[in-house]
Amino acid sequence: MNHLQEVIAKIEKARIAYSRHQVIKLVAVSKYWDISQIIELYEGGQRAFGENKVQDLKAKSLELESYPLEWHLIGTIQENKINTIISLSPALIHSIDSLKLAHSFQQRLEREGKTQRALLQINSSREESKSGVSIEEAKEVYLSIQESCPNLMLEGVMSIGAHSEDKSKIIKSFEVTKEIFDSLPNAKTLSMGMSGDYELAISCGANLLRIGSALFER
Ligand SMILES: *Cc1c(COP(=O)(O)O)cnc(C)c1O
Repeated sequence: MNHLQEVIAKIEKARIAYSRHQVIKLVAVSKYWDISQIIELYEGGQRAFGENKVQDLKAKSLELESYPLEWHLIGTIQENKINTIISLSPALIHSIDSLKLAHSFQQRLEREGKTQRALLQINSSREESKSGVSIEEAKEVYLSIQESCPNLMLEGVMSIGAHSEDKSKIIKSFEVTKEIFDSLPNAKTLSMGMSGDYELAISCGANLLRIGSALFER
């Protein structure tokens, strides 16, 4: 038993309340789930899956190679994993969190004649435990990556909502991210919203959601 249909119904309700013209995509975060549960979600119609660890992305995507799935990398990236990530070619990397990391990707992508879609992660809640560029430097870093890393195709930004019981703090962190997103030329993907806050994220303009724990009982 999974909760995919209930989650989709809630997303749809929040989407209509925000705008009937908004198009929203769900990435099912599969880091807690085993292969049979991923297949269960696939059979329920889900095609996009996200992992936060490179080794799990590799193991699960290889094991499910015969399924028409797309894989998203959503977690913090260590430099020594870049070659593995490039060889896996995920559909989208959500977590480019510095100019230096972007340059490392660019160097190796260029050498291999490959391109890779990606988002810039912004630490919009200013929490030390979170990765991401600061609110102040986000636009400059984004433009600089676009200019100097043509093989790393930046198409938007990602953010994790504030870790708080206070809704207004969570909303604030989403609004700040949306404002930066709107200021970027050609940015089309705004990845924000997890199990506890995806309806708030939708109300702030998110168009890519990363939802894990709400999909199954744990
Ligand atoms: C785990 C994770 C999620 C999903 O979190 P849930 O609260 O289980 O929905 C989303 N984004 C990132 C970056 C994660 O690591």
